[in-house]
Amino acid sequence: MSSDLGSYGTAAICEVCSNELDRIAEVELLTDRELDLLRQPKRRVNANISLRMDDGSVNVFPSFRIQYNSSRGPTKGGLRFHPSVNEDEVDQLAFLMTLKCAVVDVPFGGAKGGIQVDPNELSEGELERLSRAYVREYHDIIGPDKDIPAPDVNTDEQVMAWMLDEYEHITGEAAPGVITGKPTELGGSAGRSTATSYGGAVLFEEFVDAEGIDAETVAIQGFGNVGSNLALFLHERGYDVVAVSNVNGALYDPNGLDVPAVYDHHAEHDELHAPRAEEITNDELLTLDVDVLVPAAVEDQITMENVDELQATAILEMANGPTTSAADQRLAEQDVPVLPDILANAGGVTVSYFEWVQSTTHEYWDETTVHEKLETQMRSAFDDLTEIRNGHARTWREAAYVQAVNRVLDAETYRSNVSR
Ligand code: NAD
Repeated sequence: MSSDLGSYGTAAICEVCSNELDRIAEVELLTDRELDLLRQPKRRVNANISLRMDDGSVNVFPSFRIQYNSSRGPTKGGLRFHPSVNEDEVDQLAFLMTLKCAVVDVPFGGAKGGIQVDPNELSEGELERLSRAYVREYHDIIGPDKDIPAPDVNTDEQVMAWMLDEYEHITGEAAPGVITGKPTELGGSAGRSTATSYGGAVLFEEFVDAEGIDAETVAIQGFGNVGSNLALFLHERGYDVVAVSNVNGALYDPNGLDVPAVYDHHAEHDELHAPRAEEITNDELLTLDVDVLVPAAVEDQITMENVDELQATAILEMANGPTTSAADQRLAEQDVPVLPDILANAGGVTVSYFEWVQSTTHEYWDETTVHEKLETQMRSAFDDLTEIRNGHARTWREAAYVQAVNRVLDAETYRSNVSR
């Protein structure tokens, strides 16, 4: 194990986070001390994990856990298993988690972690041993009141279950609050799997209302967990979802897709199909003339290559980082409102917080209760942001960043780490 505990205040600067902070400083008066405090994570820990493979050989997998800021509470953030995951990426994701938790006002700081591995090349036994080994390396810095991991790219509720089990073996105590996104049988929350989409649907209504858009038509890129459930929730609310897509292509019906039929077919056959719909490409979906475009697939989809072709009146970012920085500025110049990812997809982390509350109090809520609480939290976050948006912020993204950074710095002020 190579571990680097306790590097508070001396860690290298996170370049991307630093650039984002400089953008925020253009609209919000922040002191150098305040900016410096947020330019680097509180703690970066790494470990090379040695794993006995099924064939008897030993492989070594680099791994990370980065706790960016814990002024507002225990740090919180997902764990991704991916061959290209690296410290810079995890830094940036941990920074964004800090802002996301603050913007919806859940009492967590931000963190992220990962293992450099292609899980598709592991047997189930190897995956389980690797998940458990991760917890053995990091058990002293995670915990219900320290740092709470969750699923992210290529990690699911089974991985969370193995990790919870390993943690409880090590500590000798039941600790369901150490991890979220776990199966309901082990204390997971009702409504967690559709929380991001449910929160997105609530915010969709607030957003179009605030922008005075008489929204009827929606195009959604990505038909995974987030995109497919958002399509269902918006269809239920009476909007015409005219286009959906997955990595293989898109379906378009200007009269509105029969979303429940598309959803059921996709669940059964893992393909997009609708009898009357036209097959189009993902690029064509992005440039459709719709009221709201929803990128809900992967990052960097709206770029300088296609931004001038977009016809949507507004954009709701359900994916993380779907718009490049340059394209975002162009959209602002063109007065196309964008509800940014750190708010739009924060329903997931909000219900993770609810899961943590249920796990630590041992009082469990049904899905209706979870949805009611989520709706209240999302609408309240949106109302708070509207004041800043109507004040000095030029875009919803600026408003969200200003809100989040100020909440983190207010907490730091009470801890005497900055004066405001
Ligand atoms: P997923 O893996 O379930 O689905 C991804 C979808 O995107 C699939 O339909 C896939 O076919 C499609 N896709 C992949 N590459 C594509 C490409 N190049 N072009 C078009 N479509 C492509 O993932 P998900 O959980 O639905 O997450 C989607 C996005 O939302 C990600 O950016 C994720 O980080 C973000 N997000 C998810 C959650 C959550 O709770 N699941 C929470 C917050 C943010």
